[in-house]
Amino acid sequence: MLRACRRDLGARGSYDLGSCDRLQDHQEAAGIVFEDTASALFGVEGLRVTDVQAGPGGVLEVWAVTDYPDAAACPDCCTVSCRVHETVLARPRDVRRAADPVDLRWVKFRWKCDEQACDRKTFTEWVPQLPPRCRVTARLREQAGAEVTERGIIPAEAARHAGVSWPVVHDAFAAAADPLLERPVALVAQLGIDEHRRGRARCAVDPQTGESILLADRWHTCFFDLSGRQGLLGQVQGRTADDAAYWMAGATPAWRDAVQVVCIDLCSIYASAVRRMLPHAVLTADLFHVVQLAVKAVGDVRRRVVRARYGRRGRSGDPEYGIKNLLVRNLEHLSPGQFAKIIDTLDRDRYGQEIAAAWIAKEKLRDTLNPRARVTGSTPCEREARGRLFSFYDWCAQHDDIPELITLATTIARWEDEITAAVITGITNATSESLNRLAKLEARLAYGFRNPLNQRRRVRIACTRGYRRRSRTATPRQANPVTGRRPDPG
Ligand SMILES: [Zn+2]
Repeated sequence: MLRACRRDLGARGSYDLGSCDRLQDHQEAAGIVFEDTASALFGVEGLRVTDVQAGPGGVLEVWAVTDYPDAAACPDCCTVSCRVHETVLARPRDVRRAADPVDLRWVKFRWKCDEQACDRKTFTEWVPQLPPRCRVTARLREQAGAEVTERGIIPAEAARHAGVSWPVVHDAFAAAADPLLERPVALVAQLGIDEHRRGRARCAVDPQTGESILLADRWHTCFFDLSGRQGLLGQVQGRTADDAAYWMAGATPAWRDAVQVVCIDLCSIYASAVRRMLPHAVLTADLFHVVQLAVKAVGDVRRRVVRARYGRRGRSGDPEYGIKNLLVRNLEHLSPGQFAKIIDTLDRDRYGQEIAAAWIAKEKLRDTLNPRARVTGSTPCEREARGRLFSFYDWCAQHDDIPELITLATTIARWEDEITAAVITGITNATSESLNRLAKLEARLAYGFRNPLNQRRRVRIACTRGYRRRSRTATPRQANPVTGRRPDPG
């Protein structure tokens, strides 16, 4: 070892061999064996490093022999053998040294089992990092698994870096991830439920009728911790009320009792599942989706009116087309010039008046959301929220010749209790939506998933990673900035 050490250090020309000798004298005098230093640096328990050579391409060639008391014990009968059958050279994969790959060459004995009754005639030596039939060190598996679990890179990328196959890394990832995910979910005060599509919908054309038939449209229902730091709590395949109820039924009664508020999109399926499984919880509707409905109604009216006026769809150059992006903006974010442009366009004729009615309905609905505590700084009362909703209904009733507004008002009326609860509590599904974005990103990084179980595991680890380990450089979480109409200081 020392010879190899000297050759290696001498070749690099950056160390004084004389001082190396003095160091050895000093260490021998202190009773420290120099060979053990290399073994300790290498750091695999039970392997003693005998030689190290710098190979071509930066590969570090490490020669080692076994130095482990149980290495000669038969794996089947545990009898310690004394008869060597042959010497073999194993080249297990190991972690890199800095960026350079390490070529581990382990010279080990194949022993003959001394126990007559044992079926195993011969066996090779093993150490804890390299159990029998293992060709990858345990530390390399752990490192590759942690790359996927903690750093969020895909198994294929981790496998390329580690120089092992995809199944090895994926198994290591599953071994690291499953204990984390199997931990019981802590109590949750605010629960979010959302769906996300698993891959693309698959369709085929019916040869008889020529119509498109939906072959598969796979969804996951996801449950999120909106109040705590647990991220994605769990997923189930499918998006029916039974699917959602099935997951909630699997939780303990204490966990279900602890849920105070459940936030969902405007989805009656999940509402029925929540009413069935969590009858005591307050159900709130996500306000983003409420406003989204109103924005969609404005777009629908504009498209219908443009078709009625011109007999074709809108195109660049039409006045209505020119304000289509301004109509979806919040009123308070329009500049005076933009506001004037909208008024000029919609004030021309009855077609414009129809679009204006839908636009005002949208703003009246948005006004319903403004008493929220994050806008005003104080908790709103239910009467105020319902009063503003009434103003919206009243406007829609005055314009009952516009079918889109009737549909919108009917939908809002059906969800009035949930919308009012959302205004009062100020709870939204924003956390769920942001974690859903992560779930979609994970599927894209993987170029899609074939196996639903793998997908659920990867997505859940991705959606809880930020909660398990906060970045040191991350800015502390602060109150969300106020959006929407600001309170009038006067
Ligand atoms: Zn045996």
